[in-house]
Amino acid sequence: MAKSQLEQALTRLDDAARYLDLDADVLEKLKYPRETTKMRLMVRMDDGSRKSFMAWRCRYDDTRGPTKGGIRFHPEATMDEVETLAFWMTFKCAVMNLPYGGGKGAVQVDPHALSKAELERLSRAYIQAFANVIGPDRDIPAPDVYTNAMIMGWMADEYANIVGKSSPAVITGKPIALGGSLGREDATARGGFYLLRHLERDLGVAPGSTVAIQGFGNAGTHMARLVADVGYRVVAVSDSRVTLYRREGLDVDAVLAAKAGGSLAALAGRDGVEALPPEAIVGVDCDVLVPAAMEDLINAANAGEVKARVIVELANGPVTPEADEILFRKNVVVLPDILANAGGVTVSYYEWVQNRQGFYWTVSEIHQRLRANMETEGRAIWNLAKEKNISVRSAAYVHALKRLAEAIEAHGTQSYFAS
Ligand code: NAD
Repeated sequence: MAKSQLEQALTRLDDAARYLDLDADVLEKLKYPRETTKMRLMVRMDDGSRKSFMAWRCRYDDTRGPTKGGIRFHPEATMDEVETLAFWMTFKCAVMNLPYGGGKGAVQVDPHALSKAELERLSRAYIQAFANVIGPDRDIPAPDVYTNAMIMGWMADEYANIVGKSSPAVITGKPIALGGSLGREDATARGGFYLLRHLERDLGVAPGSTVAIQGFGNAGTHMARLVADVGYRVVAVSDSRVTLYRREGLDVDAVLAAKAGGSLAALAGRDGVEALPPEAIVGVDCDVLVPAAMEDLINAANAGEVKARVIVELANGPVTPEADEILFRKNVVVLPDILANAGGVTVSYYEWVQNRQGFYWTVSEIHQRLRANMETEGRAIWNLAKEKNISVRSAAYVHALKRLAEAIEAHGTQSYFAS
C-alpha cells in the first residue's frame, strides 16, 4: 500500500534521529499528532441553500509552546495533508527557535467558486467550529494557500465576538489596520531571499544568476520582485495554468501586472515570452529553482529533469523523499522548506509578540530581526550539513530535533525514571 503523506514525512524524522543520541520518549512523542479535530461546517449560500464543508485543525506537538500554523482553503485538502503540514510546522518552529509547537488547519473547498460574502461566512464558520481549539496561548492560525489577510481579519473578529473581548494574538497575518505586523505580507519570500543571499558564496550563485519560480501567489510573486530588485534574472514563472519562459529574463513588473490582472497567459507571445505547460517549469534551464506552489510537484518522475543547481523551497513539501535522493546524487542543493520558508512564521511570531505587548515595531526593525534569524539558523544548519556530509534538509531536521528532544527530555526521560 502506498505510504500516506504523514508516513512519508516521518521518514525525515527517522533519518534525523540517526545522527542524535535520543531518549526513546522523543520519537514516541513525535511520531503521532497530539490532537486533530474534524468538523463539518454548514454555510448559508447566496442562493439561500446551505452547503457543508469538511474542515480540520491539527495540533501536532506543543512541547515547545502553543501550536502555530496556517489555514488552507483547497478543494483537495485532506486530514492526512493537514497532519503532515502540522508535523512540518513543529520542525519549522524548532528550526527557527520560536517558542511554538506545530499546527495546521484546512477546509476542503474551492474558494474561487464562492462569492465574497460566502467566503466571509465560511471563514467565520471555521472559527465558530474551532473556537475551543484555538487561542493566543493554545493554537494560533495564520494564512496559507488561498487564504489571506482579509480572511484572517474576519477570523480574528469572529473569535473576539465569541470570547467577548478583542484578542488579536489569536491569529497572525491580519491586515495592518487590525493589528497585523508590518513586513508580514512578503515575509515568507523575504526569509528565503535573505537565506539565499547569505549563502550565495557557498552555493555559487549571485545577482546575474537565473531563477525560475513555480507558483505565483504570495510566496512566488514576492520572491520574483525581491530577486529581480538585486539583479537576478527571472527566466520563468508558472501558476496552475501556464509557465511563462524567456531565456533573456522576464520583465518582472509586467508579469506581476499580468497576474494582478487575472492571467499570466496574457503575456504569452509578447516580446519573446513563450507559454509552456505548468509542469514544464521543473525542467527549465536556470541556476535557482523556487517551488512556491503545492506539495509533491518535484517527484521521482520529474526530478531527473531539474537543471537548477539550487532549489529554494518556499512551498511546503514540494520535493518528495524519492526526488530528494535523486537531487542529492545530482549535487543539487535543496534549501529545505522548514528553513527556507520559515520567514512567514517568524514574522507571524513577531506579530503575536507585538499584539501581546501592545507596542509595534517599524518595518526596518522587522526586516533586521528576520535577516538575523534567517542568517543565524541558516548558517548553523549549513555548517552542520558540511560537518556531517548530509543534505541541508537532513541537517535542518537534526538541528530542529535537537531542540525538540531537549524540551521533551526536560520533563524526564525513560532512563531517568527507570534508574
Ligand atoms: P497562494 O495561494 O498565494 O499561491 C499559490 C500559487 O500556486 C497560485 O499562484 C497557484 O496558481 C499556484 N499553483 C497551484 N497549483 C499549481 C501547479 N500545479 N503548478 C504551478 N502553480 C500552481 O499560496 P502561498 O501562500 O503563496 O503558498 C504557496 C506555498 O507556500 C504553499 O506550499 C504554502 O504552504 C507555502 N507557504 C506559504 C506561506 C505564506 O506565508 N503564505 C508561508 C510558508 C509556506
